[in-house]
Amino acid sequence: MKKYDAVVIGGGIAGMQCAVDLADQDFKVLLVEKKSSIGGTMIQLSKVFPTLDCASCITTPKMSETYKHPNITIMTLAEVTKIERRDDDRFTIKIHERPRYVHLDPCTGCNECAEACPVYIVDDYDMGLGIRKAVGVPFTNALPPKAVLHEDECIFCGRCATACPTDAIDYSMLPQDHEIDAGTVVLATGLLETPIIKEEYGGGQFKNVITGKQMERILAPHGPYGGIMRPSDGKQPLSIAYIQCAGSRDFSIGIPYCSRVCCMYATKQSMLLSAAAPLADITVYYMDLRAFGKGYEEFIQDAKAMGVSFIRGKVAKITEKENGDLVVRVEVFDEDGGLREFEHELVVLSIGLVPKWNPDGVVDVNTDQYGFIASANPNESPATTNIPGVYVAGVANGPMDIVDSIKSGSAAAMKASIYLNGGLREAPKTFKLVEMETK
Ligand SMILES: Cc1cc2nc3c(=O)[nH]c(=O)nc-3n(C[C@H](O)[C@H](O)[C@H](O)COP(=O)(O)OP(=O)(O)OC[C@H]3O[C@@H](n4cnc5c(N)ncnc54)[C@H](O)[C@@H]3O)c2cc1C
Ligand code: SF4
Ligand code: SF4
Repeated sequence: MKKYDAVVIGGGIAGMQCAVDLADQDFKVLLVEKKSSIGGTMIQLSKVFPTLDCASCITTPKMSETYKHPNITIMTLAEVTKIERRDDDRFTIKIHERPRYVHLDPCTGCNECAEACPVYIVDDYDMGLGIRKAVGVPFTNALPPKAVLHEDECIFCGRCATACPTDAIDYSMLPQDHEIDAGTVVLATGLLETPIIKEEYGGGQFKNVITGKQMERILAPHGPYGGIMRPSDGKQPLSIAYIQCAGSRDFSIGIPYCSRVCCMYATKQSMLLSAAAPLADITVYYMDLRAFGKGYEEFIQDAKAMGVSFIRGKVAKITEKENGDLVVRVEVFDEDGGLREFEHELVVLSIGLVPKWNPDGVVDVNTDQYGFIASANPNESPATTNIPGVYVAGVANGPMDIVDSIKSGSAAAMKASIYLNGGLREAPKTFKLVEMETK
């Protein structure tokens, strides 16, 4: 059984921060990531609010620090299947690692395999808007900078193996199960965009109704279209609408909470679109604007000054016209009020955040009523869970922005470090947040 001081699950910004903070204290850390690269959601973003810094310019150095740290081992394509706390206060952790079909050491990341591969697949990094080959380095600044082969789509024609100059491709690789002995565990499994698109908003069937994360990819420098276009016909949209709370604060889909980041990311994207597509009119339909962080209110005022329109109201329905344009029916909340219709060429749903991972059957950690991992004491010690030695970081704990995810990664590292030094052995007293009726 391999031994580590800490196992951090999830290689997003929170997990990376936590791993680096522990490793800097000379603890040996295993970082377990489900995907083929670390970086999480943040590496897919275009720029970040409220500074409009390039997301990959901030994420890539953090990824590199994590990847190169002598005290951090990264295991990609891997998921934890069981976490058990033993009588000696340490943990036995079972991990299932899927085959990459590429040996990491000889792979140079040259991507000649991708050139040779005849199979195109939908690119999940580009949120389904682009295509890639069935083998190759997953994206430009992936870490590890190594190819991965997608077994479900591969036709095993052998062309990539022939093209590979270092014989790195190995079709006979098998999944591996590992058992790890660890002193502490941090859960940093992050977010998914709310997977439900309401029927009233097209149920996912309208090509020109996209999600916030898809717009992040369209706006990104290496995005799928190389510019601002709409999916149905590649037209540069002249009128773009944002619909806030499209997957949050909505009892009808069982997600009544606020996802905290959507008002700000919609405002950010509106500003980026004003620069990238200056002829486009941009309208944000919102119920309330929640600008909770430092500099956030000023950011929204800047967007208004740039000409972005904010209309207070609730979008009741979207209908699709034959030419792909969209009619948005809004119950407007201003003095004149009433039900009004507006036409747009592209609609972005500011869809909220849900937890990416469900710990059921893996570890007996408490979750809140929405499935986020619960803090034992949300006010005093948000990183602490009900299990001594198991800590939580980032959006795994509830919706939060990057700044808070980084703070939360460092907070979890501090608690984990105290535990490794012999503290925090007692089961913490647990406090429950007030629950909301979802029906
Ligand atoms: C469209 C959009 C735009 C945004 N824009 C901004 C912005 O401009 N500024 C800002 O501050 N915030 C923004 N955010 C929020 C920001 O993305 C999050 O705050 C941040 O990414 C959270 O980091 P995290 O590490 O907690 O989670 P994630 O980045 O989601 O990372 C979690 C990682 O854990 C991995 N994982 C999950 N389950 C498992 C498992 N079982 N085993 C192993 N690994 C697992 C995932 O693959 C992932 O790599 C935006 C969010 C969205 C959706
Ligand atoms: S698998 Fe081979 S061809 Fe593909 S990136 Fe790695 S070294 Fe290059
Ligand atoms: S074996 Fe699979 S991944 Fe390799 S070239 Fe053929 S289809 Fe592509």
